[in-house]
Amino acid sequence: MANVSVKDVEKIYPNGFHAIKGANLEIEPGEFIVLVGPSGCGKSTLLRTIAGLEEASSGEISIGDRVVNDIDPADRNIAMVFQNYALYPHMTVYKNMAYGLKNRKLPNDQIDTQVQKAALMLGLSEHLDRKPSQLSGGQRQRVAMGRAIVRSPDLFLFDEPLSNLDAKLRSQMRIEIRKLQRELGVTSIYVTHDQVEAMTMADRIVVLNGGKIEQIGTPAEIYNSPASVFVASFMGAPPMNLMDAVADGNSIALPGGALPLNHEVHGPVTIGIRPEKAVITDQANGATLPFTHDFTEELGAIRLVHGHLGDTPFVVHRHDDAPLPDGPLFVSVAGENVNVFDQATGQKR
Ligand code: ATP
Repeated sequence: MANVSVKDVEKIYPNGFHAIKGANLEIEPGEFIVLVGPSGCGKSTLLRTIAGLEEASSGEISIGDRVVNDIDPADRNIAMVFQNYALYPHMTVYKNMAYGLKNRKLPNDQIDTQVQKAALMLGLSEHLDRKPSQLSGGQRQRVAMGRAIVRSPDLFLFDEPLSNLDAKLRSQMRIEIRKLQRELGVTSIYVTHDQVEAMTMADRIVVLNGGKIEQIGTPAEIYNSPASVFVASFMGAPPMNLMDAVADGNSIALPGGALPLNHEVHGPVTIGIRPEKAVITDQANGATLPFTHDFTEELGAIRLVHGHLGDTPFVVHRHDDAPLPDGPLFVSVAGENVNVFDQATGQKR
């Protein structure tokens, strides 16, 4: 198990594009870290820089107790799993998995032990003689995992490994990958643009935006206390309700009423409320806002009630299937569930 340390890393591509801006990240041995963010935010660049497939323009990367900036990717003792699996089509599953070990000139009996062991873990023992074209997408993904496992690396690097699979298989594979990683205890960095993957798989999530790390935290920290409007709106589906307002000490004045705050804030802010933290009521008081109901989306276990607070669209997530009260509706939110961001910088206040 190795720790990974990324210190003040910058990546400027030869064409001058500044893809990573001052990244700092300390990863504990055995930790599963997910890099998440929108297309083009620099997730793959950061991963490839840690792998050594890209050179850092400045800063320092360590894996275990070695600074690896000047060490070839092949000598970093890492294993990468890609979206396209990168399997050799003309080789059997066995040969695909054994390939890296053969290159390292390991004795055949040792190669066989490791391949058989990984195949057993991955449920591939029956398929070792097949070619990749004779496998399903999920099985191919397992072969790619197997090839990574047999090398007993210090670090797994995953670049969107599940994006070619359908939704059902994806949710199954993310559980399998996480279970396998826990069993093996190998430190892992996993790139995805899928926030559900990030929330469900990560020990800690790193949210990237425009080449900068916006926030590092556990899934619960990222979800419940987003550090910025960007993180608040990126994580969560449906997204956090956001609206501009003026804070007046311990409350926020909004059209038709006010919302409480659990800490003192003054001036122009953007407030954010998770759909499941708002409650619809027919009882107005000093801490409710008039809610106009537009339509309800029925999702089976839950329902999404769409409407407006003044002119601002607002979604409430309801678990109970009681009908909405008749007559005028209001929304109430506890102060601790009102996230407050600076209107100018977008940062948490
Ligand atoms: P995606 O989810 O779309 O893969 P990403 O977050 O992984 O996105 P990167 O592939 O790391 O993003 O790219 C980050 C930025 O760097 C993008 O704007 C991309 O166009 C740019 N970029 C990537 N590779 C190069 C390169 N070789 N030369 C110049 N710019 C590049």
